[in-house]
Amino acid sequence: MVLNFPASGRWISGSGQVLKTVNPATGDINAEIGTPSPEEIADACIFAHQSAASDSWRKLKPHERATYLYRISAAITEDAEDLAQAQMLENGKALKECRQQAASAAATFRYYAAACETLESIVPPNRGNYLTVTTYEPYGVVAAITPWNSPLTMEAQKVAPALAAGNAVVLKPSEVTTLPSLTLARICEKAGLPAGLLTVLPGYGRDIGPTLLARPEIRMVSFTGGTETGRAIAGVAAKRLIPAALELGGKSPHIILDDADIPAACDGVIDGIFEGMGQSCVAGSRLFVPRAKHDQIVAILVEKAEAIRLGQPTGPDTDIGPLSSHHHRDKVEEYVEAARKEGGIVATGGSRPVGAQFDSGAFYRPTIITGLTNSARVCQEEIFGPVLCVLPFDDEDDLVATANDTAFGLACGIWTSDYRRAWRIARSIDAGTVWINTYKQLSIAAPFGGFKESGIGREKGLQGMRLYQQAKSIYFATA
Ligand code: NAD
Repeated sequence: MVLNFPASGRWISGSGQVLKTVNPATGDINAEIGTPSPEEIADACIFAHQSAASDSWRKLKPHERATYLYRISAAITEDAEDLAQAQMLENGKALKECRQQAASAAATFRYYAAACETLESIVPPNRGNYLTVTTYEPYGVVAAITPWNSPLTMEAQKVAPALAAGNAVVLKPSEVTTLPSLTLARICEKAGLPAGLLTVLPGYGRDIGPTLLARPEIRMVSFTGGTETGRAIAGVAAKRLIPAALELGGKSPHIILDDADIPAACDGVIDGIFEGMGQSCVAGSRLFVPRAKHDQIVAILVEKAEAIRLGQPTGPDTDIGPLSSHHHRDKVEEYVEAARKEGGIVATGGSRPVGAQFDSGAFYRPTIITGLTNSARVCQEEIFGPVLCVLPFDDEDDLVATANDTAFGLACGIWTSDYRRAWRIARSIDAGTVWINTYKQLSIAAPFGGFKESGIGREKGLQGMRLYQQAKSIYFATA
């Protein structure tokens, strides 16, 4: 049975080529999903535009819009297991991580419902005989384009603030993970969200993206994905003169200073790279350690990496599942081979796990590589897999210069017992997020985004709602 998708106010099968999604843990087909033709994309955008412009959405007071978001949050909590299962089936993440992400999606809708009710307009200081009120208006229709690694959280992070801001959203999920987006759309419908405010257009980026972004109804694009795709989308947005918010790739430095609590730091490093099989934009993939402690730290990390339990995502004892696809595993393997050719020493991992339960899935062992310099290809390019490169440093200047010697600037972790050093280094690192004595803690209330080629704009927090609005200043004469 081919699954339908919500477009133009109903669930349609679409006349584009049918998309098949695959379970990376088993190689089985998960679902066959319809995709839209260019005409169906156009119709869906026109319908979304009408829905955004209709009085029943455009003229709602923010606290009235908030009620929809509260209801969606409650409906996500009710159907959290459906969302978690849908994501697990398609990207292979351990079920327990998928469940946490479903809970986080509910919290995101709740946060933006509250933001909707509390965000204020501005009355700027008066410079003449007039009173100015600055209001924030929606764009109309926002295109949201998302990757496969964490659709549950990434899509909530775009859909909730864009709706809270008064827009309609046309969501183009990754071709690898469409089921979670269809499940979210069902949940929104069940929560009473009016038709046309959330459209889902399944399909390959190259098929859907250019047609979608050329539509005049699309007035803003919010993209999360790879840097090269982001560059292409920014090019289209520049030609159309529409704003583009871009959350892109990373090659984040994780730093252990000589005064750190080494066992705690090593736990943080292991989670920071191997949780979710390294398929996280903020994965701490370059580890900087004091040269004198290099061997001691590598020995601890190897022991911890070898204790990680790989398995089927549903397994109660599974720490990490497979990579998201067999094709992606091939890419990870190529990177490890490239590291070997450049003189890298594989301290652990560097191969597929052996055993019947791993035979048909896209599994790969957590891998730690030493013996390279920061200029090696695996230290410069985003692998997006379970591969950690350990790099020794000599002093703080060398550390900061080398950590910043990358095209990316997404995140950084610092482990130290000296808060002054933590502050100094945190301020010197080019990154949108810095963690001190922790890693990968993320709050919906704090802005998130990248420096340099890791992106433009900030999602989350109150600015995450302003991202989907444009300021308008209205002047009233007072004399
Ligand atoms: P990708 O760039 O290949 O695809 C992302 C999305 O863009 C998919 O929906 C895809 O279909 C679509 N797309 C592809 N070509 C397009 C085009 N020409 N026009 C419009 N849409 C197009 O990325 P991916 O492989 O799905 O995800 C992995 C990447 O995402 C990694 O680089 C990772 O770092 C990044 N990522 C970044 C963040 C962040 O917040 N900074 C979060 C998660 C993932």
